[in-house]
Amino acid sequence: MTSIYRSLNLVLLGPPGSGKGTQAKVLSEKYQIPHVSTGDMLREEVRNQTSLGIRAKEIMDRGELLPDDVMAAMILKRLDREDCARGVILDGYPRTVEQAQVLDGILAELGRTLERVVLVDVPDEEIVRRLGGRRSCPRCGRVYHVVYNPPKDGKNCDDCGVPLIQRDDDREEVIRERLRQYHEKTAPLVDFYSNRGLLVSVDGSQSMEAVTASIMEAIGSPVGQ
Ligand code: AMP
Repeated sequence: MTSIYRSLNLVLLGPPGSGKGTQAKVLSEKYQIPHVSTGDMLREEVRNQTSLGIRAKEIMDRGELLPDDVMAAMILKRLDREDCARGVILDGYPRTVEQAQVLDGILAELGRTLERVVLVDVPDEEIVRRLGGRRSCPRCGRVYHVVYNPPKDGKNCDDCGVPLIQRDDDREEVIRERLRQYHEKTAPLVDFYSNRGLLVSVDGSQSMEAVTASIMEAIGSPVGQ
């Protein structure tokens, strides 16, 4: 792997709409390690109308979290795949202290450790503004924003050419519940990881490129970049 790390297991923390999914995709290319988004995995289950997907949709549409044991099974299966052997960028997992403890166990079992946790920090008012304008491609999941990051023609995915949609959970009342869940259940992970010396924090209200640069400065660039 072309990195200063022998392996890089990275968690991106931050409120919904902090841009961590977009950052995870960019970093995944730069560091050549997979981007694992539990939200994307669940949305795929929803699209495929699996029994998990049908159950998940109801919970997601309320802005609530799925049970920790369901998420543990999903993440164990994913991290055990060969493509994660040299590292992974986790986006949306862990989301509770219990999930963070499960993750420690899974990584230990696989002979890996967490190298870094990056908090992409964005104030609540900015989140509500951003998520209200967020749109995504129903085919590939690529994320846009009507003002900050529109597709080239204003309405269709640049890659797939299909019309963009608004996620059901990006409606205003659901955004507020997701933020409430974040502050109650996920924000405690900031202390959890900070106490272990793993946390670095970046200002997520900068431009997309500046956030990427800040993250890479904090965790170290791949060799040759
Ligand atoms: P995201 O795309 O990360 O914002 O996730 C969308 C929704 O999927 C969340 O609001 C939750 O309902 C569910 N979800 C994703 N990841 C998790 C997780 N680690 N634990 C529980 N629920 C999750």
